[in-house]
Amino acid sequence: MAFDVVIRNGWVVDGTGRPGEMGDVAIRDGRIVEVGAVDGGGAQEIDAEGHAVTPGFIDGHTHMDAQVFWDALGTCSCWHGVTTVVMGNCGFSLAPAPVEQRALVVRNLERAEDISGDAMAAAIDWSWDDFPSYLDAIERLPKGINYVAQVGHSALRTYAMGERAFSDAATEDDIEAMRRALADGLRAGAGGFTTSRTANHATSDNRPVASRLAHWTEVEALVGVLGEQRQGVLEMAVEDDIYGRDPESRREARDRLRHLAVDSGVPVTFGLLPGRDELILREMIEMIERTKAEGGRMLGQTHSRGISIMIGFQTRLPFDRLPEWREMRALPLPQQREMLLDQVVRQRLVDAASSGQYARAVGAELRPPRFDRIEVLWDTVNPNPTIEELAAERRQNPVDVMIDIALDSNFETWFAQYSTPRVSDESWQAVLRHPNAVMTFSDSGAHVSQIMDASIQAHFLAYWVRERQVLSFEQAVHQLTGRAASWWQLQDRGVIRPGAVADVNVIDPATIAPLQPKVVNDLPTGARRLVQKSTGMKTTLVAGQPLFVEGEHTGALPGRLLRASPVPS
Ligand SMILES: [Zn+2]
Repeated sequence: MAFDVVIRNGWVVDGTGRPGEMGDVAIRDGRIVEVGAVDGGGAQEIDAEGHAVTPGFIDGHTHMDAQVFWDALGTCSCWHGVTTVVMGNCGFSLAPAPVEQRALVVRNLERAEDISGDAMAAAIDWSWDDFPSYLDAIERLPKGINYVAQVGHSALRTYAMGERAFSDAATEDDIEAMRRALADGLRAGAGGFTTSRTANHATSDNRPVASRLAHWTEVEALVGVLGEQRQGVLEMAVEDDIYGRDPESRREARDRLRHLAVDSGVPVTFGLLPGRDELILREMIEMIERTKAEGGRMLGQTHSRGISIMIGFQTRLPFDRLPEWREMRALPLPQQREMLLDQVVRQRLVDAASSGQYARAVGAELRPPRFDRIEVLWDTVNPNPTIEELAAERRQNPVDVMIDIALDSNFETWFAQYSTPRVSDESWQAVLRHPNAVMTFSDSGAHVSQIMDASIQAHFLAYWVRERQVLSFEQAVHQLTGRAASWWQLQDRGVIRPGAVADVNVIDPATIAPLQPKVVNDLPTGARRLVQKSTGMKTTLVAGQPLFVEGEHTGALPGRLLRASPVPS
């Protein structure tokens, strides 16, 4: 056979943003070798009639650092066409960290990213101390998709400073030690440096994660290493001042970030999430554009829905911590049903939920109920009514509305609780179509008990492309592939052309969509998480090998650790 695989008669959308064309894609030895009308046969022929053939998607914002040790496939990202994930974001990586420091490193990400400490203890064979030996450990793991690892500031700081990382400013010696360890990580192939300066990131014992203790000069010194080695991006969970009420502090924080990008020459990337105050969103877009005008590079990471947590009777509800609810919620669901059908008990629960004292949530923790921000997930693509809207319509207490919906669906209905208000169409369009933005804020691998953002790629194509036509399919695919590849400096990926690595999706643009979330108990300790698959994804290939066919894993594990190298100047 002339080729290993030939994908026939597809609509080839090559990832550059230019219009798709009908044709075939031939693959040999893991790379694309011909695109167009292919004469020779393939050992495997894939019929793509009626489907789009695109590069595999690249997700720049994940927290797969722990999960990669127990989940060879890379769920749930792999079910939505993602073939490469960038991990180690927001300052959280598992290296550098010698074995004896691992409790401190784990302390940084356990709460902030809601990754089970027990699962990490059970499943991670801690065989590294510095970043290079960590990369070797990742390289040895079986993998379905590709991984890019970044050096997290909180780990780096803990490595250099021990317990002091959580309380002190860094000394010159500390900064030197961090710079050396970061440089070693980059030489071994780290894809970037990441940090967090937001109060959303706290440890289990209510202290700031280590990176938040850093003065700005420390951040500058570390980003300087990326600039000197001409390698890697800076990803940052930006400081709360950027979103604050005081225009002066907002301006000051934006100026610092812009100067950092321009002076260092390092690509800087952060969340650009619709749902923020419109003025602040505009300010952030202006910062990105001004940085570009001054010769720097800045990229906003967007989201297709706004960040939400998934709540429901099968997992958790905002009311669970109230004493009146706690007892019932510890019972099996059939017994909860009986209690909810008792009018006296039900009234007591509704009263408690309506007047209860709720603890403040940090980051993505379970928030107090705000019924104007809780939607019923009847439709996984289009917006749904809020509980407040339904309560008004039905002249009912909002808690009663949730209980009725739950009882009527045998507790299977999910509710999406958004952390921000509904977004105006103007804000959505400003972000979704911005040339310096990509759809990538999935947080995949984090918050697995409640957040289902790993489906944003499928949602993006279903809602913003098919339903709303705010972007063309080609423009959307460009964000998920070619544009992402160039920002994260991935050579030969994110594009369908001869010579490129054959990470490829075959997608039905008419049906691609996320499916309803499901509860599974498959964490290493048997703990539960939510998973969400998609429909309309016919085949995903990684390095020329089919990984999924019609949603089923083929058994292949062709994924690799992708080591970054300096970008030629
Ligand atoms: Zn993150």
